[in-house]
Amino acid sequence: MENTRMNPLIQYNRRPARYVKLPSMGKCYLKGIDLTDTNEVAIYPMTAKDELLLKSPDALLNGESIKQVFKACVPGIVDPNEIPIIDMDAIMVGIRMATYGDHMELEFTHDCEADAVTQVNVNLGNILDSTTFYGGDVEVVLPGSGMRVFVKPYTLVEQNKVNIAGFEEMAKSQQVESEVKEQLQKLKMAGKSFTRLLDATLDLITASIDKVITPDNQEFTDKKIIREWVTTISKPEFDLIDRALKSITDVGVNSKIVVKCAKCGQDYDSELTFNPSDFFG
Ligand SMILES: [Zn+2]
Repeated sequence: MENTRMNPLIQYNRRPARYVKLPSMGKCYLKGIDLTDTNEVAIYPMTAKDELLLKSPDALLNGESIKQVFKACVPGIVDPNEIPIIDMDAIMVGIRMATYGDHMELEFTHDCEADAVTQVNVNLGNILDSTTFYGGDVEVVLPGSGMRVFVKPYTLVEQNKVNIAGFEEMAKSQQVESEVKEQLQKLKMAGKSFTRLLDATLDLITASIDKVITPDNQEFTDKKIIREWVTTISKPEFDLIDRALKSITDVGVNSKIVVKCAKCGQDYDSELTFNPSDFFG
């Protein structure tokens, strides 16, 4: 890696091809982010190697390949582990634009008649223009205790942990399904799997809580203390925090698109997906 940096040829290769305004406005990057005066981050085109990494089977699941690509294409982000989930789509669109340009041919299928496929030339610049932005921590006051909880978006890494837990537990239960017929064993597995998913969800909520302020104004930021506390609050209180978190993660690139069906002429709603395997076909 260091060698390529010293190679005098390489500095001529890659220049930023796009500047993108991130939904987080750079607010969630404690280790640093390089933004322009207009709050944009520079995005470089992918190399062939980057693209292969994005398409590798583990790209979605454990996120290692995606992180490597983000390091290469968005060097202004010091630590890709800090990328909040709300910035993911904007970065993916930015990388796609930096590498292949603003337009993308996509096919949408209407359920009006068989094979009602419509080709749409999507202008990704317009998609980015529809971005909504995160204004900062959302404060939730728990009515019973008067505790004030400050919620921020979780990161891709934290989301991945939940995905992996879900995926592995599903794989395990399928295995049990086929190998072990004993009811007791099945129940045991189901219990464990439930606990693991619950753990992952609690981790995600804890990661999203920036701080908790008590009614007598003591501030707590320690994740261990917060996690333990989260397990003791009532379900309605938990739901309040969860709802605040969902409202935050709604921020970002608007993936909805209206397609005019080429067969029947009707307008219908569809959605763009920015996951690597579909988006970099
Ligand atoms: Zn149609």
